[in-house]
Amino acid sequence: MPSDLHFSFELFPPRTPVGWEKLPSLIDDLAAVKPAFFSVTYGAGGSEQDGTAEAVRQVASRTGIEAAPHLTCVGSSRARIAQLLQQYRDSGVTRIVALRGDLPATSLSNAAPGELRYADELVAFVREQHGDHFTLEVAAYPEVHPQATDPAADFRHFVRKVQAGADGAVTQYFYNADAYFDFVERCTQAGLQVPVVPGVMPIVNTAQLLRFSAACGAEVPRWVRLRLEAYGDDKASVQAFGLEVVSRLCETLLKGGAPGVHFYTLNQAEPTLKLWRNLGLPVI
Ligand code: FAD
Repeated sequence: MPSDLHFSFELFPPRTPVGWEKLPSLIDDLAAVKPAFFSVTYGAGGSEQDGTAEAVRQVASRTGIEAAPHLTCVGSSRARIAQLLQQYRDSGVTRIVALRGDLPATSLSNAAPGELRYADELVAFVREQHGDHFTLEVAAYPEVHPQATDPAADFRHFVRKVQAGADGAVTQYFYNADAYFDFVERCTQAGLQVPVVPGVMPIVNTAQLLRFSAACGAEVPRWVRLRLEAYGDDKASVQAFGLEVVSRLCETLLKGGAPGVHFYTLNQAEPTLKLWRNLGLPVI
């Protein structure tokens, strides 16, 4: 495996006291294999927001590995975003995943869209306020963003985010490697030079996978869905099959030139570490 590949791990801020109790050991277990960075999601408009900064602080202080908060602009103001950026800068953060975000369904009816409407405006705002201080990652959708009606326009919007100053992109997860390779080819044709790292989600639970995928527009191939559904409550078989499918996907992506993998860990170390070992990545 080439040594210049970059692997990163995504966490979410725990939603329960028990989740927070388990966070240190989760971080330690994942940090043991020395990822390039961790990222921590940010719940747009919700109570998870303070949790992002706290989880980022814990990753950095326990491991010394870079921790990148996700930052969304939906439902927020320039002043609030400027304040958060300054807090992150003051606490040593140098990488941010910049997103528009989605408002929780319950607050959609009475929520303002936010002063910055799209992620490209957020990227431009961060650059305007902080120059090159932050490395900025943005989201990419090889299978097209779920709200986009026109795939070509969706791709143009992605190009605008990069032109606004993004340093790299992390994709929504997918199980069809061709969608990723096609997206990367279009990036090359558009003259983009930033790395587009595939986001990969381990398969651990059929119902959860189908729920997430319906919400975020990721396609679960029919044959994968049918095999998973046939295992019913047999968790061990679901996970063994999921591991096989996702390991093969990662191998295909890396052989095909992907610059690394961003793992959506779902705050569980073992599914990601099993993939890691299956791929023959170094275990320190
Ligand atoms: P944008 O790039 O702004 O695009 C959103 C939609 O608007 C797309 O359909 C696009 O085609 C369209 N669009 C963009 N620009 C324009 C324009 N100028 N005019 C018209 N239409 C336009 N969500 C969270 O809430 N918190 C997180 O921490 C989080 N982390 C994520 C991490 C990754 C790696 C990914 C892939 C997604 C993440 N999300 C997160 C989900 C993301 O916030 C949603 O998918 C959201 O709907 C879009 O965010 P974006 O940054 O891609 O938006």
